[in-house]
Amino acid sequence: MATEIQHPRPAASWETRAYWEGCGRHELVLQRCPACQTVQHRPRAVCAGCLSNDLEHFVASGRGSVYTYTVTHQNGAPPFRDTLPYVLAYVDLEEGPRLMTNIVGCEPADVSIGMAVEVDFADVEPRPGETDAFAVPRFRSV
Ligand SMILES: [Zn+2]
Repeated sequence: MATEIQHPRPAASWETRAYWEGCGRHELVLQRCPACQTVQHRPRAVCAGCLSNDLEHFVASGRGSVYTYTVTHQNGAPPFRDTLPYVLAYVDLEEGPRLMTNIVGCEPADVSIGMAVEVDFADVEPRPGETDAFAVPRFRSV
């Protein structure tokens, strides 16, 4: 089985901090617009449906299915070069948004379009001087 990817620490901006903090709690946090019910990912300042800036955050189910994927066989950048081959995928979440992620916990040849998946989280080490617990979401077959 392929080696687990050691993810670099995410850089949280004011728009993405709630998302990364949720990941640190092992919760997949999405944004919802109370005005038009749009659920969106990536996190941003305004609703992609109606431009309202009155957004709320909620914990998603973490379930979805593989929309598409590719198997990466060449990447010279550390730490990814140490985990080749790995699967880069788009996952359609139950709540609607599509998320770019990795599929882990199985051989790349076992991944398929439409495969049911569930989120799990890889904790990442804080940089010197940082204390926030962050993690990177990736998905496993269910
Ligand atoms: Zn809206």
